[in-house]
Amino acid sequence: MADKPASSVNARRIITDQECQAMIQKSLRTPMVRFLRQQLEKAGCPIGDNFFRAVYCHQKMQGAYISGEGVTVCTNYIRIQDEVNQVVTHELIHAYDDCRAANLEWTRCAHHACSEIRAAHLSGDCHYKRELLRGFTKFGGQGKECVRRRVMQSLATNPDCAGTAAKDTIEAVWDKCYNDKQPFDREP
Ligand SMILES: [Zn+2]
Repeated sequence: MADKPASSVNARRIITDQECQAMIQKSLRTPMVRFLRQQLEKAGCPIGDNFFRAVYCHQKMQGAYISGEGVTVCTNYIRIQDEVNQVVTHELIHAYDDCRAANLEWTRCAHHACSEIRAAHLSGDCHYKRELLRGFTKFGGQGKECVRRRVMQSLATNPDCAGTAAKDTIEAVWDKCYNDKQPFDREP
């Protein structure tokens, strides 16, 4: 699903598709990505290296998971290796959710919201160091606040989440989805 960068990040073409592709390959060697790929394989959804593509994105986002297709990383909205690692990890949690659920419907706000909560929570998107880099310096409970903010951004393009639906749906599924840490044993 489309995942937007912090609003301060503007479209800039700094890295080439080739450089981005190399960063993706490097991300595949990180412990988190390796673990998620192992878990995907165990769950019956093995993914190859060609599952990931570096593309120039016209929509303001860092990456996306497209069911049945794979993961795209947006060359024009990422700058550093850590962001690629983060995007790849985040999108693989969506891929895992897609794999384990028999009938996940991305168009439905509740299904989409649940996966975004899990992806933002479990991928490390809201690690305090990353929040500091984005300019958010408020401490205490910032983890959940960050997850909510990023989920809202990701749901913005889903018509089923229009109006107050996004906020209401996040509230409705929050406990169940925030506490669902599969395939991790605990908060990674
Ligand atoms: Zn997402």
